[in-house]
Amino acid sequence: MRKPRLLTSLVLLTVVLCAFVSLAHAQVDKLDAQKKGAAAIAKMTLRVRAIKVSPEPKAVRIAWRRGGEGLGGSVTRGDFALKNAAEPDIDKKIEAGKQLDISVGAWSDWLPLETVVGRPGGWQFPTLVVLASPTGDPKKPAPAVTSTVVEFEFVESGKVFKSFRESAPRGCTVRFAFPGGALGEKGSASPGFVDQFQGLADYARARRERVEKLFPASGPVPKKFAVIGHLGGYGDAAQNKGRGFGIRHNNPEILLDECRTLRRLGVNGLVDTIRLADAVGQGDAFRRMYWGGPGSGSPVYSVRGGKTVETCPFDPELGPRMAARVSDAIKDYRAVNACESWALWWDEIGVAAKDHILTCPRCQNAFREYLRVQGIRLDDLAKARWDQVTPYPIWKPADPKAKGSPTVDPATLSAPDALRYYYTFRFMTHATAQLFPASSKQLKEAGIPLYAMQGPTPSWEGHSLDWHEFYDGGPNSAFVFETSNRDPRVWQWESYLGDIGRSIAARHGMPMGALIKPHRGAPEQRMLTLVARGAGTFEWYTYGPDYAKGDSFSQRLDLLERVDRAGQFLGKAEDWLYGARWAGPAEVAFVSPRSSEIWGKATDLGVTAFEDAKWVYSALTHAHVPVDILSEQQLAAGKLGQYKVLYIVGPNLRRDAAVRVQEWVRTGGTLWTDALGLSRDEANQPATALADLLGLGKRKLESWGSVPAYHATALLPLKETAVPAHASLSWKSGGVWGTGDARGAVGREALTPKDGDVLAKFADGKPAVVRRKVGKGEVVVVGLWAGLTYSAKVRRAEFEMRTDFDQAVRALIVAPALARRAYRPVVPAEPLVEAVLLKNDRRRSIALINWGYRHDRTLQTVKDLRVALPGAGDVKSVQSLAHGPLKAAQPQELAFGVRR
Ligand SMILES: [Zn+2]
Repeated sequence: MRKPRLLTSLVLLTVVLCAFVSLAHAQVDKLDAQKKGAAAIAKMTLRVRAIKVSPEPKAVRIAWRRGGEGLGGSVTRGDFALKNAAEPDIDKKIEAGKQLDISVGAWSDWLPLETVVGRPGGWQFPTLVVLASPTGDPKKPAPAVTSTVVEFEFVESGKVFKSFRESAPRGCTVRFAFPGGALGEKGSASPGFVDQFQGLADYARARRERVEKLFPASGPVPKKFAVIGHLGGYGDAAQNKGRGFGIRHNNPEILLDECRTLRRLGVNGLVDTIRLADAVGQGDAFRRMYWGGPGSGSPVYSVRGGKTVETCPFDPELGPRMAARVSDAIKDYRAVNACESWALWWDEIGVAAKDHILTCPRCQNAFREYLRVQGIRLDDLAKARWDQVTPYPIWKPADPKAKGSPTVDPATLSAPDALRYYYTFRFMTHATAQLFPASSKQLKEAGIPLYAMQGPTPSWEGHSLDWHEFYDGGPNSAFVFETSNRDPRVWQWESYLGDIGRSIAARHGMPMGALIKPHRGAPEQRMLTLVARGAGTFEWYTYGPDYAKGDSFSQRLDLLERVDRAGQFLGKAEDWLYGARWAGPAEVAFVSPRSSEIWGKATDLGVTAFEDAKWVYSALTHAHVPVDILSEQQLAAGKLGQYKVLYIVGPNLRRDAAVRVQEWVRTGGTLWTDALGLSRDEANQPATALADLLGLGKRKLESWGSVPAYHATALLPLKETAVPAHASLSWKSGGVWGTGDARGAVGREALTPKDGDVLAKFADGKPAVVRRKVGKGEVVVVGLWAGLTYSAKVRRAEFEMRTDFDQAVRALIVAPALARRAYRPVVPAEPLVEAVLLKNDRRRSIALINWGYRHDRTLQTVKDLRVALPGAGDVKSVQSLAHGPLKAAQPQELAFGVRR
């Protein structure tokens, strides 16, 4: 008999607690510092001089700028002037350039420091450029400066408090680091202020030394996983005169320090900037994977008459133009010659056309063709001829503010028009996906997967672009999305996005990757949950560095430490994790129907059902039930044999999918849905096929509130007014259903079953949960927004995730999966600790991921966690990657403590 070895990777349960505390306080400190720093900086001035300039000119001009160019906001710029600024009309002379020419070695006049660094807040990194003064002779332009050293002197109330030199050995650009956050009312005596105030070279070196000091004996770094990072800001005289957009310095020493820091963090690949690493002989350390173009924007734009214009996604000129861009990109990838290369086309992808399709004859033709391929007949649309069929006007093109918002009134819409509305919405995704298959093929033949970078829209309020339909159109050969959510309560939705991605990647045989943003929270958990879902590639988005690119984490020592730890964990675990698959197939499938999402946007329901669905998924993961996420298209394709239970959460379901679901239930499947669930079809008409199955009378929703859409930032409380007494329900069914009571969130559907078992009743005696046998299978309808009810308490300001999810409400969701004994191999005693059983050839492991947070953003550490292993088969020994060998408390159960 095989003796499998079980690895429990527990590192992520010991997330550094103080890191989150300091993050929570950072905002308050920042505002405070800004006020106090504003008074202090008013007393500060600076002057500069170029002390070495090559080739040596008679005089130089020294310009400064800050912000913009990838750092957010716009660029602020100015010049240093010759000393003697007190003379009359100095402003006019500066304007005329006469006072800007400064001899090499001579000091400039004093400038208020605030002019150059702005209002003190966080870090500010102003850039200085030294140029040879104009000769006045157009035939003899001033030579480009190829190296320089600039000396800075900073004065507070007449007294020098800081001076340093910054050199540009390969050009004319230097930069310094101003620690605005550390400047308090004590001015230059503010703790840490002067120490951190330095030239960019010292700043980058100090960062590298701090990271090296944190882990003097760093563990193994990932070699199999591709860990992508970012370099930036360097330019040199040979390539670009050492100045210009985005060039922050010309010092190879800085680049070398940044490369060493990145290597230290486990980074082994780069986005775009591999040539910078090559410039300092570090390129080979970053050739595990290279991410480059063809482009970060939509290919639909073209330049005509000097203006960028949006063109038609079906424009025949696009094909050749895109092919040429792909050819160029392939040349670039060949020149880089990394072990693996992935090509990006369209960062944070949207749809290629909206109201354009209403007026474009080509798009109208493409729309008709799309309908025909979907099997739509003229009868369905109540039209006599195809040329009468046009996209439904779902946008208000005349009103720019309302652009993109639906104009449909479902109450007055005929069924044929409603169908056209639905397909017009879907057509946006089709029009976008059809742009890319040729490019994807061209790149694939060169061995390069193509990806579009997806925003985490299924965890927000949905999107015009549907992930499932997009990838079904064959546009990409790799699946990549970014993690962005800032609220600790929804960090766990990384697993939701990962499960959607896992399903899409498996369906189309694509590798999966992700951008993980450490500064948005839970980097270790996010990494592990995605790796446990098959991602072999991710970018720590983004190292920046902070002086070159915004939205970065490289200025945060606490995050550098956590990224380093996560990298070491991955390096140690990659024999188990790289290429690992789920040990067994899921027997529960989950669907948040696209048709429900589309009609939600058009009706009073808004995001209610869409938000509800996400929390139904969460309840299943809190019960440790592995779930496959399917699309309606997959339901319609009918391959449901592996599943015992199907959760379809939404009022609308496509008719072709409904037919298959009905067959599947009759042959033994269990179907679960909740309020208004499956009551309507894709044209928002009452569903017929499923009405028989569900056995309910007229479906009617009673509402007493709404749910705010979740989008990236804070999870908001439900809005409820005049909650009726009959919102409450109770049940005493026992078994997997348990006994309990609850209060339905924002609304209810009092069920009207013609037969079946009533498992729970509302306070007014009306049925709340109904189970009904159909053929060999059964259906369960919960007359609540079950997911919203489950999430109601955790939406409070003082949330505690470990206690705020009601076990009784969870039972109403997961009972059918438990009753059917669906695959559930590993069951931690703690709902907020996710467990994923993996196998990699003969190596088996469990990823344990703690998503439980408190309102102050601290992780709720679990002590003495017990883990049951009902589906892990024979287990002879267990070891934790963090804690070494573990003893099983009894056969098939682990218990172990967690170090803080
Ligand atoms: Zn068009």
